[in-house]
Amino acid sequence: MSENNIPYKIYLEESEMPRNWYNVRGDMKNKPAPLLNPATLKPMTAKELGAVFCDELVQQELDNDNCYIPIPEEIRDFYKMYRPSPLVRAYCLEKKLGTPAKIYYKFEGNNTSGSHKLNSAIAQAYYAKKQGLKGVTTETGAGQWGTALSMACSYFDLDCKVYMVKVSYEQKPFRREVMRTYGASVTPSPSESTEVGRRILEKHPGTTGSLGCAISEAVEAATSTEGYRYVLGSVLNQVLLHQSVIGMETKAALDKYNIKPDMIIGCAGGGSNLGGLISPFMGEKLRGEADYQIIAVEPASCPSLTRGKYAYDFCDTGMVCPLAKMYTLGSNFIPSANHAGGLRYHGMSSTLSQLYADGLMEARSVEQTAVFDAATQFARVEGILPAPESAHAIRVAIDEAVKCKETGEDKTIVFGLTGTGYFDMVAYQKYNDGEMSDYIPTDAELEASFATLPKV
Ligand SMILES: *Cc1c(COP(=O)(O)O)cnc(C)c1O
Repeated sequence: MSENNIPYKIYLEESEMPRNWYNVRGDMKNKPAPLLNPATLKPMTAKELGAVFCDELVQQELDNDNCYIPIPEEIRDFYKMYRPSPLVRAYCLEKKLGTPAKIYYKFEGNNTSGSHKLNSAIAQAYYAKKQGLKGVTTETGAGQWGTALSMACSYFDLDCKVYMVKVSYEQKPFRREVMRTYGASVTPSPSESTEVGRRILEKHPGTTGSLGCAISEAVEAATSTEGYRYVLGSVLNQVLLHQSVIGMETKAALDKYNIKPDMIIGCAGGGSNLGGLISPFMGEKLRGEADYQIIAVEPASCPSLTRGKYAYDFCDTGMVCPLAKMYTLGSNFIPSANHAGGLRYHGMSSTLSQLYADGLMEARSVEQTAVFDAATQFARVEGILPAPESAHAIRVAIDEAVKCKETGEDKTIVFGLTGTGYFDMVAYQKYNDGEMSDYIPTDAELEASFATLPKV
C-alpha cells in the first residue's frame, strides 16, 4: 500500500522527540498584543500575573523573544508514555475520495484523556509542583481539559479542582467520573461555592453555564485559596508553546521522509492545537524559508476568526481575568443550544489572532451537520472515531482533497486529528437520528454581543 518506503504510520524514535518547545513569538515581527490589567488598562506585569499563574508559566507567557525553550526531563519522561504520536497517511480515505491528494494526519488521541490537552496539562502541573504549590484550579467544558489535568495532577501528586460547565456535567457523567478516578474534585458551574458563581446564578437563574463563567469561578477559587494557582488549557501563549511538541514532531516526521506539505489544517477553539501544529511551519514562513497554506477551521455557530472583531476583550464572563486582544465574539457570547461540536470559546489565542490579522493564515467556518458527515466518513474508512472538534479539520481536509480531484493536483495535506470522540456519543446519536440542525448567528446577534466589548 505504501509508496517510496514511506510507512503507513510514521513513528519517530523516542530519541527523536523534541528537546525544546518552539516559541513562534520569537520569530514574529508583529508580536501578539500584551494582556492588560482590566482596572488600569496597562500591560499585566509578571508580579500581577504571578497572583493567578505559576511563576515559570508567567515567564513563558511573557517571553516574546526566545525561540527555543528546553522541555524539562521530567516532562519528557511523561511525554514518553504516549509520545511521539504517529503521523498517519490516510490511504483509505484518499482511495475512498478518489483524490490524487496525499492526506496525512497527526493523531493526538492516543492517551486516556483522549486529546492533545495532556501535552500542556503535564507541563503546567510540573511547574506548579516545582513551585511547591498544593494544587491548581481550572474550568472544563466538554471535559477533555479537566481529564488531562487530573491525570497530570495525580502524576505529580497535586490537588486538582475542576469547575465543569453545568450542561456538560449533567450530559457527560462519564467524563466527570474519569476525572474523579484520577482524584480531582469536580463542581458544576455556575456554583454557589464562589462569589462570582452566586452573582451569575442570581442574574441568570437556571443557566446551564458557559466556559467563560467556569473560568471566572476557577480563577476566584485559586486566588482565594492559599497554595493554589489557576491553569488554563487553551488560548494562552504558554499553552501554544507546550503544544508546539505536536508541530515539532510532525515536521521531524515529514522531514525524515522528505515530504513537503502544501497545506496544514487544524480545528480552532481557543487555538492551542492549531497553534502548536503550525508553529514550526509558521516559523519557516516568518523567516522566509518556506511557504505553506495554513487553515484554521471553526464552527459556523461560534465563528470568532471569520466573523469576530479583533479587539481587547474579557477572557471570561465574570470579567475577573486580564483583557486579551483577540478575534472575539464578545465575552457574553454563548453558541446556540443545539451546538454539539465543541470549540465553543468566544475568543481566539492572541498569537493566532495576530498571525491571522497579518494574513499569514486563513480561516473557514463549517456547519455542524457537515462536520459530522466528515466525522462519519472518516471513521468508516480510517477506523478512528474522531472527536467532533477534530472533525472540523477533517471536513476541510476532505473538501480540499475533493478540490484536488477536480483540478488533478496532488497536493500534500496535513491535518491535526486532535482526539477521539467516545465521550461525544450524545452528539453522534443526534446526528445518527437525523436530529442535528445547524444554527448560524445573525449579524444582529453578533452586533449585540460586540456592543458589550470593553472600551479600550
Ligand atoms: C479542546 C479540544 C480542541 C480545541 O482546543 P484548541 O485549544 O483550539 O486546540 C480540539 N480538539 C479536541 C479533541 C479538544 O479536546
